Amino acid sequence: MTHQKKIASVLRQATADGVLGPEHPVAGFIDVQGIRDSVTALHKAFAHVPDALHAFAVKACPLVPVLRLLADAGMGCETASPGETRLALAAGFAPERIVLDSPAKTRAEISEALTLGIALNADNLAELDRIDALRPARSRSVVGLRVNPQVGGGSIAAMSTATPHSKFGVALDDPGARARVLDAFLQHPWLTRLHAHIGSQGCSLQLIARGLATLHQLAEEIDAHVGRRQVTSLDLGGGLPVNFSDDTVTPTFQEYVRALTDAEPALLDGRYQVVTEFGRSLLAKNGFTAAVVEYVKQSGGRRIALTHAGAQVATRTVFMPDAWPVRITAHGPDGRPKTTASVPQDVAGPLCFAGDMVAHERLLPELAEGDLVVLHDTGAYYFSAPWAYNSIPRPGVHGFLHRDGAVELATVRTPQTLAEVVEESGSSHGPALLTGLAPAPHDEHSDCS
Ligand SMILES: *Cc1c(COP(=O)(O)O)cnc(C)c1O
Repeated sequence: MTHQKKIASVLRQATADGVLGPEHPVAGFIDVQGIRDSVTALHKAFAHVPDALHAFAVKACPLVPVLRLLADAGMGCETASPGETRLALAAGFAPERIVLDSPAKTRAEISEALTLGIALNADNLAELDRIDALRPARSRSVVGLRVNPQVGGGSIAAMSTATPHSKFGVALDDPGARARVLDAFLQHPWLTRLHAHIGSQGCSLQLIARGLATLHQLAEEIDAHVGRRQVTSLDLGGGLPVNFSDDTVTPTFQEYVRALTDAEPALLDGRYQVVTEFGRSLLAKNGFTAAVVEYVKQSGGRRIALTHAGAQVATRTVFMPDAWPVRITAHGPDGRPKTTASVPQDVAGPLCFAGDMVAHERLLPELAEGDLVVLHDTGAYYFSAPWAYNSIPRPGVHGFLHRDGAVELATVRTPQTLAEVVEESGSSHGPALLTGLAPAPHDEHSDCS
């Protein structure tokens, strides 16, 4: 089935079921078989590397049923906050298959990880001191140190983590830093992993490979310095970029592995256990957002479609349109792709600020009230991480599977209700600012006159 047909059939089922339509004008959809296929492609690319742990970066899709699906498909899990760790545990990941990378770990977070046996990567040497102080004698946690090889950034500054001034990891080329890292390993025999995450969308394979070759070189240097095999695993991070311009998966995990091996032939030779932390490359193309066109209007001679997909589900696209363009297709109310001639149209979201546009002057078949728009490749970091501006309820998310010529839908996240929005906005504390904190009655004898 073509991608186009697949999406049309999901839309048809979703509108028939009412999970997309007047009552639920925007929803996210997740391709269950697509996720399984992407995980298979990842495992296949690393099949020659013994004992690799592929940890899914939870922030790309923090939804428990998706995490359970990934666990079932053989993935581990990378978390970057106490909330994400809780999601990973709720999804049933064994602690030893969870890698904690929070950038600003609290003492409580470190203690929890060390007690449960969750692996963790220290972001800096001060954090390493905390781990040293909190580590129970028999902790099963693998502990690593995140370094920044400072190989430079990609095309999106906010996604580049190996720049000279990145906030992440120990900046290796800073004066004295390398020596301090070597000594940290000498001082802490339990420190057995090196971690780097070179960047995400916008970073080239070559840049990532160059950074990871540096990581390998540092591991060898550490072992030479301490005089024994201490570094046993390399956590390579994630960051494989995604092609948002058409349906082709490029680059592939296979190409990633080739780029790494070209940059450092020994990197994946099995001497070091390998951990990966992919997010976007596993999920982006396995999800899409669909929204109802509420009105169509003209303004300054331009056609504008007012839809229900805006910055609440496509935050990066709205605020950084050049870095994060998304493909949009036009569909009739039953999901069938519209085939009329394309004309330039603005596609606006429902939020109350002028910049809430997901596309400007996009060539699309003329949209009409009741039509649907699809934002493609939004399975990672989009609808799964909504923004609460304007108190718009979080949209529902539905998994889909094509079986025996039919489309099956399963609820992954229930759409938020308006009552829940009110509750979340402090309704149980309604009178909090009127009682107790009320200003003291005017005092005639006050000397503060
Ligand atoms: C965000 C992040 C990832 C995942 O990045 P993707 O671009 O989604 O693959 C992996 N590791 C760390 C440390 C991250 O911050």
